[in-house]
Amino acid sequence: MKVLVAVKRVIDYNVKVRVKPDNTGVDLTNVKMAMNPFCEIAVEEAVRLKEKGIATEVVVVSIGPQAAQEQIRTALALGADRGILIQTDEEIQSLAAAKLLKAVVDKEQPKLVILGKQAIDSDNNQTGQMLAALCGYPQGTFASEVVVEGEKVNVTREVDGGLVTVALNLPAVVTTDLRLNEPRYASLPNIMKAKKKPLETTTPADLGVDVAPRLTTLKVEAPAQRKAGIKVASVAELVDKLKNEAKVI
Ligand code: AMP
Repeated sequence: MKVLVAVKRVIDYNVKVRVKPDNTGVDLTNVKMAMNPFCEIAVEEAVRLKEKGIATEVVVVSIGPQAAQEQIRTALALGADRGILIQTDEEIQSLAAAKLLKAVVDKEQPKLVILGKQAIDSDNNQTGQMLAALCGYPQGTFASEVVVEGEKVNVTREVDGGLVTVALNLPAVVTTDLRLNEPRYASLPNIMKAKKKPLETTTPADLGVDVAPRLTTLKVEAPAQRKAGIKVASVAELVDKLKNEAKVI
């Protein structure tokens, strides 16, 4: 069974983002980039399926600038077999990403496609769902457990009220939630080995996909600064302030 995993290059989650002075977006100059954390979980799950003898090949795909090769190499060091970079310097919105991934699905014919539930830069939470719709595949989103059984995959999903388990016919699309697994670290020997694994580069034009943005960002603003708090001398004073100043009780 071939598994396709989509990995996105995003700002490292430890970085405090800066909004550009003209409010058109986030400043990416000299900012540390990394694999989207939910995509790391997707790679880990695919590699575990390979270790269990269920997956025969794990292919990772990333859409982005040439530098996104770094995230593909990371995935290869974690145990994926082969990489595909769809190289572009354009802004790729979720619908364009889903169309590009659909083109790769058509070519590669994976049985399972694993994506992150959302990219932490845009927080869209759309690509997996759009890809499933474009391919006509069933989808199991926000997965906290994935069990492949023959021609089916059982996906336990984290929803507001608890957990829901759905059975999907393969081929299917799964998106990962935080508790699906704990991704491993790449060992030095595996990082060296990953340099020799195949990485193919293609472009949106080669795949015949129009990636023109369909949404326009009007304004990007940093969250409002928190105001300094005050100290109260007693519980009575706190209750008084909550009642008479904040008027919340
Ligand atoms: P989003 O819908 O943008 O929040 O992204 C959800 C998931 O879709 C990510 O975790 C990735 O698995 C996949 N994805 C989105 N954009 C890209 C991209 N440019 N390259 C590869 N995968 C992507």
